[in-house]
Amino acid sequence: MEVDILTIFPDMFKPLEESIIKRAREKKLLSVRVVDIREFATDKHKKVDDYPFGGGAGMVMKPEPIFRAVRNVIGDSDNVPVILMSPQGETFNQKIAYELAQYDRMVLICGHYEGVDERVREALVTRELSIGDYVLTGGELPAMVVVDAVARLIPGVLGDETSPKEDSFANGLLEYPQYTRPREYAGMSVPDVLLSGNHEAIRRWRRKKSLERTLLRRPDLLQEVKLSEEDKVLLNEVKEDIKAKIGNNKEE
Ligand code: SAM
Repeated sequence: MEVDILTIFPDMFKPLEESIIKRAREKKLLSVRVVDIREFATDKHKKVDDYPFGGGAGMVMKPEPIFRAVRNVIGDSDNVPVILMSPQGETFNQKIAYELAQYDRMVLICGHYEGVDERVREALVTRELSIGDYVLTGGELPAMVVVDAVARLIPGVLGDETSPKEDSFANGLLEYPQYTRPREYAGMSVPDVLLSGNHEAIRRWRRKKSLERTLLRRPDLLQEVKLSEEDKVLLNEVKEDIKAKIGNNKEE
């Protein structure tokens, strides 16, 4: 996948030169080009922002350099997603990450100051993405969040092909708890079933834990997911376990 990130702070993208993303780039599974919007400013001061019409605090990013930068990167192509990072966009999630991972290319625009001139939204942008209901100083961190989440879904980027399928949200549930060595740590031990070597028992335990976590932390997700007959049995067991625990606590 080829990703072009349009920004006025190109030096902020060092995190995309590390770890799994670095390896994905080296393996040519992912190409990230950071494009400095300022290079597409037309005046001699390379101005990329200006005062808002109508008055008010802050500056607004000018439309011309952004239009020119996008045209330079994708020409007139209209099948490349041009995504504006914006707190007003749809909230980014794993489903959207999977959708974007299907594309060969995408362009991400990072806003700054009070945001970008509305005409960029109207005529250039195909999708607006927010990484949550809070306001950051710029779109650079959100763009990195999107690149990271999408890149790890590109086949071959993660060592183990199956791992993204097991992740939280991939199947509509939160992931089960994970343990590694040592078996005992600070008086806490790894659940026996994980040491049993019984694959079926481990699978069932993990599925049950996944349902339990989702019920306790994100019950909203359970409304969306299609549960199998086994899931329904496991979920009932989880609810019974919780009731029994509450009962025991009351007795104490
Ligand atoms: N005045 C804008 C508003 O109220 O909607 C906020 C502008 S914000 C200070 C500057 C830029 O940071 C935005 O244009 C956007 O690119 C980026 N940004 C801030 N918060 C974001 C979020 N939650 N998700 C995605 N991008 C965000």
